Amino acid sequence: MYLKLRWARFFTLAGWNWTLAHQSTMADFIVTIPCSHSECNGSHVIAVRVCEKALESLTRKHSDLYAGRMYDEPSPALFGDGPKNTYWQMVHGAGGGDESVSNWTSTDANELWERAARE
Ligand SMILES: [Zn+2]
Repeated sequence: MYLKLRWARFFTLAGWNWTLAHQSTMADFIVTIPCSHSECNGSHVIAVRVCEKALESLTRKHSDLYAGRMYDEPSPALFGDGPKNTYWQMVHGAGGGDESVSNWTSTDANELWERAARE
């Protein structure tokens, strides 16, 4: 529960729009991440499910749950404890692939994560 609250604060500190997801979706948050790439439509939307796992098991769980869903909108994402434990796949620019929140914050993601624990 605390982890979800901290992620909600993180999204706010990052300046990203987020809402709670509908229970039926199995996700916790729907998050809109701005993207300035000319081939994208201004943002990407991901459906974040929070589970207390580290990156290696998050990645494995993601392939069990969401294999072949890279083109889904929103893109299913798994977030664990902190920015280094986040994983999803999505289309971006002319390509796409593996993603992590650290690729998308305008300031240091670890610093935002620390601030999210305090504020
Ligand atoms: Zn993009």
